[in-house]
Amino acid sequence: MDQRHKFESWINSKTTLIGKCPVCAERRWTLLDDILEVRPFNGGGLVVGGATYPHVGLMCTNCGNTQFINAVVSGIISEREFADEIPPSGVADAG
Ligand SMILES: [Zn+2]
Repeated sequence: MDQRHKFESWINSKTTLIGKCPVCAERRWTLLDDILEVRPFNGGGLVVGGATYPHVGLMCTNCGNTQFINAVVSGIISEREFADEIPPSGVADAG
């Protein structure tokens, strides 16, 4: 089962009917092809190798509003994969 089907099965187990977009009230959702990274705010500086929070993007094709669903909670990325992405030192300064 690929990640898309795995996510679709998971989201359908959480809600029987995906709701209307909270911005435009249409019901036209699509999954983005890539897993997105959300990074902690670091005072506007670039942090290389720091913590990230992987998310699946669920986008309204009418207005572009995008909902972020945590990829670990939804099972798309295992907790082990997620832990392996975080370097032991935590953060590195890009200079
Ligand atoms: Zn919308």
